[in-house]
Amino acid sequence: MRIDLHTHSTASDGTDTPAELVRNAAAAGLDVVAITDHDTTAGWTEAVDALPKGLSLVRGMEMSCIGLGDDGWPVPVHLLAYLFDPADRCFADERERLRAERVDRLRMMAELMRADGLPIDPDAVLASAGGSAGRPHLARALVEAGVVPSVDAAFTELLAPHGPYYAEKADTPLRKAVEMIATAGGVSVLAHTRARKRGRLLALDDIRELATLGLGGLEIDHPDHSEADRVVLGELANELGLIGTGSSDYHGANKTIRLGEFTTDPAQFEELAGKATGVPVIGS
Ligand code: AMP
Ligand code: ZN
Ligand code: FE
Ligand code: FE
Repeated sequence: MRIDLHTHSTASDGTDTPAELVRNAAAAGLDVVAITDHDTTAGWTEAVDALPKGLSLVRGMEMSCIGLGDDGWPVPVHLLAYLFDPADRCFADERERLRAERVDRLRMMAELMRADGLPIDPDAVLASAGGSAGRPHLARALVEAGVVPSVDAAFTELLAPHGPYYAEKADTPLRKAVEMIATAGGVSVLAHTRARKRGRLLALDDIRELATLGLGGLEIDHPDHSEADRVVLGELANELGLIGTGSSDYHGANKTIRLGEFTTDPAQFEELAGKATGVPVIGS
């Protein structure tokens, strides 16, 4: 069984359409794939309709949150939400608010660049982004305009939090997000919490507290995690009785990682699927 529980489509900042994503997942030899676009379920229906025989689909999302950093200051955190009921009103309203924040924030960053003389058209960037606008959309515009050689260079030089054009957005407090996902029948899993290259880390004690509020799991095997940090997270998952997952965080051509490059243990996946009451895994 090969299980990849974290991927992005064109419904957010990936480059495969949801239909291409599930077809590519089957071609990559996966048995289970989760679609986890940022702050949206917009890709779910297309992925379900295109699901190849033999592949199971986990409907999910990656939610933009704010937690407490290990230095005591707020830190952006990504929280994976799996198999929740998309009709839960409170959660649906919060997703809509997050997407509006994304649009406002990306426009602000694009306008700062234009004001600085960079060949960036904020309207065109937003139009290219669709419903869940993210920095990768701006990164691609910068590459196409010849400002930087690659998406990766755009992130290190221009789009980083300490960079000249960064704008904040108001993400969901982590505790509230964990509770909302549980209320909607879903399972929450902290994404890449020790991805050091993205910035400061979430405090381990914050994770311990989230576990008492209904957090379901930790993403342990992730391309941005060192071996040492995987050990730390594995021990923490054991200590707290949390599910441990592994995933590629595939973004199509926006990143070099391939589907299935990191995977989740079948027993951990069974536990996750068994906890959810929102929507079922499809195709199993
Ligand atoms: P945002 O959601 O707008 O804050 O942008 C963050 C997104 O950019 C996440 O999905 C990351 O996976 C992606 N990202 C971060 N760093 C890079 C990078 N160096 N190359 C490509 N994508 C990146
Ligand atoms: Zn992304
Ligand atoms: Fe993420
Ligand atoms: Fe992601």
